[in-house]
Amino acid sequence: MTDILIAGAGCAGLTAAIYAARAGKSVLVLEAESMGGQIASSPRVENYPGIPSISGLDFADRLFAQAEALGVEFDFARVTGLRPGSPMTVLTDAGERTCRSVILAVGARHRALGLAREQELAGKGVGYCAVCDGAFYKGRAAAVVGGGSAALQSAEYLASVCSEVTLIHRRDTFRGEAALARRVAALPNVRLALDTVVAALEGETALTGLVLENKKTGARTRLAVPALFIAAGQTPDTDALRGLVALDEAGYIAAGEDCRTSLPGVFAAGDCRTKAVRQLTTAAADGAVAALAACSWAG
Ligand code: NAP
Repeated sequence: MTDILIAGAGCAGLTAAIYAARAGKSVLVLEAESMGGQIASSPRVENYPGIPSISGLDFADRLFAQAEALGVEFDFARVTGLRPGSPMTVLTDAGERTCRSVILAVGARHRALGLAREQELAGKGVGYCAVCDGAFYKGRAAAVVGGGSAALQSAEYLASVCSEVTLIHRRDTFRGEAALARRVAALPNVRLALDTVVAALEGETALTGLVLENKKTGARTRLAVPALFIAAGQTPDTDALRGLVALDEAGYIAAGEDCRTSLPGVFAAGDCRTKAVRQLTTAAADGAVAALAACSWAG
């Protein structure tokens, strides 16, 4: 029996663990894949206050070490369900656990395009977060794929650091916010490649270019570019939670800034929660809020 069980060992889950352990609670963190979450695969973090530059893996290692030194327990297991009650029962693929309160910090995955060599070139020119990694391409060209607000925001941000930006979208209208789309289209160093898809990635050890295909004409062109940011949406890791806590239409856990879910005693933190900005800092903020709420609940 643990006071607080946390599902997910990313930035939100580990921050929650640190806060709860420092508040004197017993804490168990369950992770389905690898400790550290999404940030562990980011080549460099330069936007976390107080840490000018650190690799994503080192950042994750430090968070893990900080939580472990405070007595937080860890185990590898995927949460598959929840039985409310006092205590609560958390169902996992490695058996059942009981606890007083639960924090769901299961994260979200960036949707990949499914191109050949996309995984191989991730972190070597292919990225999923322009705000995190765009500055590495300062003064050089970059491309963005997607037509939602995240793609538009990425293009706008990259236009402020890169020499030129090509925004590639598979349709001729943007799904993202109209005002943002107008602003981006008016930027002098942004070129729109509409009705266009990325057909192939080029480069041996790092990305050097893209093969673009116009969907209407079938014409193929090459774009020499060292950076491609894929902003094709995210998918939260919440399939197992469907029917247990309220989710929004995209599958994110419905919870406000207080991190309270539809199930009393169950809190949501980080990228799996409904929110506008998904960054390390906002994940850490959620971790603190959820932990303090869970501590009060656990008594
Ligand atoms: P999104 O709105 O789901 O947009 C994803 C975009 O990627 C769509 O334009 C989609 O094209 C395209 N796409 C998906 N799969 C693709 C593929 N295989 N190949 C090429 N293109 C593909 O995702 P998002 O932009 O990450 O936004 C997610 C949510 O966060 C939205 O609700 C958004 O409003 C919100 N958000 C808000 C802000 C803000 O400042 N308010 C900023 C960022 C995000 P189609 O359009 O053709 O489907």
